[in-house]
Amino acid sequence: MPGCYKYERSGNMDKPGIALTFDDRSIDNWFKYLSLLDSFGAKATFYISSYHLLTIEEKNKLREIQRHGHEIAYHTTFHNNLCEYFKLHRINDLMQMEIYQDLKKMNRDGFYPRTFAYPFGSHDYYLDNQLLAIFKSVRALNGGNDLAKSVVGTTSNAILYALSMDNNRRSNNTIERMIDLANKNRNCLVMVGHQIENANAKYQVPYEKLKFILKKAKSLNMNFYLISEISY
Ligand SMILES: [Zn+2]
Repeated sequence: MPGCYKYERSGNMDKPGIALTFDDRSIDNWFKYLSLLDSFGAKATFYISSYHLLTIEEKNKLREIQRHGHEIAYHTTFHNNLCEYFKLHRINDLMQMEIYQDLKKMNRDGFYPRTFAYPFGSHDYYLDNQLLAIFKSVRALNGGNDLAKSVVGTTSNAILYALSMDNNRRSNNTIERMIDLANKNRNCLVMVGHQIENANAKYQVPYEKLKFILKKAKSLNMNFYLISEISY
């Protein structure tokens, strides 16, 4: 694959690793696959949007996910594209509606997100600065060809660009190559998915693909990082 892997990044992490992240609010779906993550000793970060819509049962499952050592992080109240939203609203309104509204509800229920992911990965420098006053890091998406944007070389990062694990995005080969490079270069590779093995979902990570990633990282004795562990 000419050109695809020319962007390597040198790193100096004590233990190279991967950071698995999942977005939105597919609590039941994620809960079903906790044992898969556990069986590899894998930890993941779950960025929650629209917490106010969760049922009591879903909140209990989310608590159980947290108890398994996973990180519960934040992904806005209404899942608006924040750059678009900011064109129509003042920053205080944006912060109130999309950030504080559900964050407060989560805090009341004992969830204290310390890291943030942008809906649709849409962000700019101004929003980054606003949000980094509240969160240790913000996560966007890597939709381009510079795959090295998705690796970090230290545990102190403010902005992360996740590589998609979802169907029809990056192939197993690409992901395998990036995990190998992260291992070689002492990096952490940041990845993102949505639901797991749900053919009806637009964005889903096939079960076999997730297992392939877990197996690969495990075989190289790589670390599974929570996002807060690689954030400022
Ligand atoms: Zn989302």
